[in-house]
Amino acid sequence: MSESPAYFIGTVFVVSLLVGSFLNVVIYRLPIMMERAWRQECESYLHPDQASHTSQTQAFNLVKPDSTCPSCQHKIRAWENIPVLSWLWLRGKCSQCQNSISIRYPFVELLSAVLSAVAAWHFGFGPAALLAVLATWLLIAMSFIDLDKMLLPDQLTLSLLWIGLLASISGVYVGSADAIIGAAVGYVCLWSLYWAFKLLTGKEGMGYGDFKLLAALGAFVGWQQLPVVILLSSLVGAIVGISLILIQGRDKSQPIPFGPYLAAAGWLTLLNGDWFVSQYLAWIVR
Ligand SMILES: [Zn+2]
Repeated sequence: MSESPAYFIGTVFVVSLLVGSFLNVVIYRLPIMMERAWRQECESYLHPDQASHTSQTQAFNLVKPDSTCPSCQHKIRAWENIPVLSWLWLRGKCSQCQNSISIRYPFVELLSAVLSAVAAWHFGFGPAALLAVLATWLLIAMSFIDLDKMLLPDQLTLSLLWIGLLASISGVYVGSADAIIGAAVGYVCLWSLYWAFKLLTGKEGMGYGDFKLLAALGAFVGWQQLPVVILLSSLVGAIVGISLILIQGRDKSQPIPFGPYLAAAGWLTLLNGDWFVSQYLAWIVR
């Protein structure tokens, strides 16, 4: 694969297409699994003597039960589960009940494949590309969960943080010192902003998941490029937020998930951080 970039990028594309299909499962099931676990914890705390019967419910995790059509419970067969192609072949409808299947499923698969292929192309065969692909998958999963549920699961944000810190040992993107400071500063930045905002307005502008996500991104790009991540995410977040208010007449007080913007800004910075910094500096100096 180191000899032929096209073969490497092609392989990453196909593998990420299949992983994208699994990401759809993660996006749908992980929040439900978390809600069930919270409910069970609460029940066992409030009623310790009755706690046992709740654990007897049917298994529900990333593997079990098999995927079914949400409308008719028809079990999705292997040939109906081929990324993107099955959706096109079935024209976005369930083969049994003809109810439409959201275009988001093939979209997530395609997004995962395209962004991973871009990362593979950018870094070339090696650890930097493979870890960037892994980060891409995690960022996609958490972005969509945040869009759906305003929730950034620890399982995803903290995994990304550990990967970024471990990668810094061999200096894959940045050295250990830059990564560790990046993680701490990333967390503290948003934490301070959260409390300042809360003390001033009495509202919560973001959640703890956002702090953990920026810490993880700081571990990948180093503290020097954190300002780029913050500026990019705020800029895009503001543009999208204002457009939603203007176009859809969305309520201003309705919270907007910040995770997808952080994720997109972090991904762009990981690939092109130096370019953004040089453009910004050139713009200031001009
Ligand atoms: Zn159906």
